[in-house]
Amino acid sequence: MRSTMQDQPLSLSRLLRYATTVHARSTVTTWTGETTRTRTYGELGARAAQVAHALTRLGVHRSDRVATFMWNNGEHLEVYAAVPAMGAVLHALNIRLFPEQLVYIANHAEDRVVFVDGSLLDTFTPLLPQLATVRHVIVVNGDAGALEAPAHVTVHAYEQLLAQEPATYDFPVVDEDAAATMCYTSGTTGDPKGVVYSHRSLYLHAMHLTTPGAMGLSPRERCLAIVPMFHVNAWSLPFAALMSGASLLMPDQHLQPEPLLALMAAGRPTRAAAVPTIWSGILARLASHPQDISHLSEAFVGGSAVPPALMQAFEERHGVRIVHAWGMTETSAVSTVAHPPADRPDDEAWQYRLTQGQFPALVEHRIVDDEGAVVPHDGSSLGELQVRGPWVTGAYYAPSPTADAGDHFDDGWLRTGDIGRITPDGYLTLVDRAKDVIKSGGEWISSVEMENDVMAHPAVAEAAVFGVPDDRWDERPCVAVALADGADADVITLRAHLADSWARWQLPERWAFVDAVPKTSVGKFDKKTLRRLYAAGELA
Ligand code: ADP
Repeated sequence: MRSTMQDQPLSLSRLLRYATTVHARSTVTTWTGETTRTRTYGELGARAAQVAHALTRLGVHRSDRVATFMWNNGEHLEVYAAVPAMGAVLHALNIRLFPEQLVYIANHAEDRVVFVDGSLLDTFTPLLPQLATVRHVIVVNGDAGALEAPAHVTVHAYEQLLAQEPATYDFPVVDEDAAATMCYTSGTTGDPKGVVYSHRSLYLHAMHLTTPGAMGLSPRERCLAIVPMFHVNAWSLPFAALMSGASLLMPDQHLQPEPLLALMAAGRPTRAAAVPTIWSGILARLASHPQDISHLSEAFVGGSAVPPALMQAFEERHGVRIVHAWGMTETSAVSTVAHPPADRPDDEAWQYRLTQGQFPALVEHRIVDDEGAVVPHDGSSLGELQVRGPWVTGAYYAPSPTADAGDHFDDGWLRTGDIGRITPDGYLTLVDRAKDVIKSGGEWISSVEMENDVMAHPAVAEAAVFGVPDDRWDERPCVAVALADGADADVITLRAHLADSWARWQLPERWAFVDAVPKTSVGKFDKKTLRRLYAAGELA
């Protein structure tokens, strides 16, 4: 028996129309370095229409890829809103990747148009001659005349382009399974891999974010989007904000703790999202420059494991609740979120909050051991996490002919490469990434658990633990430590601190003191670089 319900597509063009009318008074505010500039979602609607007209005039058709090379700001949101709604595919390029990776990605995606922030022209200009499919470059917030382009590329100035266009556009109702945006994984092993999100997957994922079980967004919230719009669609925050009417605060290129705190003082966000290293920087800044940030009732942190010491410090010193979340490019970002069950005593609730979070209804999950057997969700059986669901990718975009799908997919499930366990009530605890777990003398050492414990020492600002080759034990842990400003601690002190919770055979012999732990293009501890520096003898 069929239902009597209408079959209406979950289309981002409808979402845009809804957001820019019903939530016309909600705002997007961008930090300029000294002050803010604000536009309403109503104005966003008019400007998104102008972007769509301009792109149509430049010959952009359905399914054409339109790239961005931009910071988080109001103009980027306009492009985010317009491109999928007109049926084209938004591709936010990660401005921090190496040039050869950027060229590979833009050519692989066959980007036709690129929106570039004026402040990034020095990085972008040398890439342009190598971008084989790009025909138009649109310079935003900068001097288009400063860009030297090859003869087959036309350069435009964003505001001039928009000024000629009407402020309404008849956005089509796009098929919900059509491509809306795409992102690439960072390519820690081999070439970066592309993931293509559909209107439906982004719509459902944005709905997930708005629920109280995730970020609880509504028109009453102001959300600071620190996570870059080139990192998994800023974890879908732009779409979730449009859907819920939550206002957005955007830091533009001002990503250091000082300007972020200035933006917080000006915009008083109630929600925020960023990777852990951003929050450690903010915490350190607050120690020397106190500021009331208790307006921030929930700060969402994911991308790598959140050190418990960081969560405790924010809560106790600043009245800010850090909410831990897990996801990946392949799962449209945020999938599990660590809100504790109701009515649990504080210490038990705290244990739940330290997990990577609880699975939502739309993400099926299982743990598979080394022999390929599915193990129970008993809170202790360990193995690889596998997931499936409507916002989980089922394949990579145009994979290389040598790629082995079995490395990433198993009978319709995505293999995450994360090692963990799941409780009967669906809370996920990750022990490590399969490639980061340290195998010493046949036993496992979790790099994440060990670095969390090192970071619990008050003298430590950052610590990353990574495996290094060892003749006797195969691998041993090595710790890269950055001490807090003005703090002092030596190896003996830090080893003694670890000895409280680790067996003697696990305690690391190798320690390197660094000014800052190297970070990846999206701000995670960069263990690949640490391993390379260690092998080259360049870590103290
Ligand atoms: P990259 O591979 O560039 O890091 P992603 O952002 O897609 O790209 O990374 C996803 C991975 O990040 C996950 O597979 C997991 O290993 C890690 N990760 C994400 N969130 C968490 C978290 N809360 N705790 C531990 N690891 C996390």
